[in-house]
Amino acid sequence: MSQTFCTWWEDEHGGRYLVPGCMARVDNPDIDECSCPSVETQLTKAQGRIAELERELRGLRSWHDCIVRAVHDHSDGKRIMKTAAGLRPTMQPNTAETTGV
Ligand SMILES: [Zn+2]
Repeated sequence: MSQTFCTWWEDEHGGRYLVPGCMARVDNPDIDECSCPSVETQLTKAQGRIAELERELRGLRSWHDCIVRAVHDHSDGKRIMKTAAGLRPTMQPNTAETTGV
């Protein structure tokens, strides 16, 4: 789940525009401080999420290695691996967001 927060967008002519990310700035765009999480809070949250995803990736890699080992040791392992290779989705450049990778 993504979270929005207030950002400023600048055009090529020097114009600066607020893109509200919280109701405080929607209600009053001129306030100095809004109700968005601080940059430090966002960084801490992002670091926690990265650590969580890295743990998940390590677990999945470990499970993947176990499965590959079991298939290789199976009497019909080559046929199974060939079938699996045929089922693998083709990776296209810049498709990470659509494939969830
Ligand atoms: Zn805000």
